[in-house]
Amino acid sequence: MYFYCEKCKKKYPISTLSYRCRCGGLFRLFKKTTEEMVHTVSIGEIKTPLVRAKIDRMEVFLKMEQLQPTGSFKGRGAYTLINQLKNVGIKSIVEDSSGNAATAIAAYAAAAGIECSVYLPTGTAAARINQISAYGAKIKEVEGSRDKAGEAAGRRRQIRIMHLMCITRCFLRERNH
Ligand SMILES: [Zn+2]
Repeated sequence: MYFYCEKCKKKYPISTLSYRCRCGGLFRLFKKTTEEMVHTVSIGEIKTPLVRAKIDRMEVFLKMEQLQPTGSFKGRGAYTLINQLKNVGIKSIVEDSSGNAATAIAAYAAAAGIECSVYLPTGTAAARINQISAYGAKIKEVEGSRDKAGEAAGRRRQIRIMHLMCITRCFLRERNH
């Protein structure tokens, strides 16, 4: 398993902290179908049930993702992301979200022993802040919009943020259930 540049095809080890090739091309993940992803961090994810419903006379199936440990489907991405970050030796992460993603990442980071800081825009609901900080994440409130919080997080540890984003993109599709 390795990253390769989508432009020049140069290979990089999976543990690289770069998010793109020196030529500027973004990474793609190469993984043999026989290679298994290692998942050692779990907080009790479940295969959520489907509930049949009718919406506007159409039959649909609703997936009950609120039953996941952190209360939303964002736990799926966090599970995959944090496991892979642990596998490549990441010790701390920075996240800029004010919602379910921050909660899920904070929870899985705590389970993995990864230090987590979450940048939130001022005005984020106290209940959400309490939920995120209950997992041990450090809260940084930033005056202004969500975009301002993202900029502040990026200034702090841009390499880690970009690595996080790159790995997220590459690994999210690996988790299906
Ligand atoms: Zn390249």
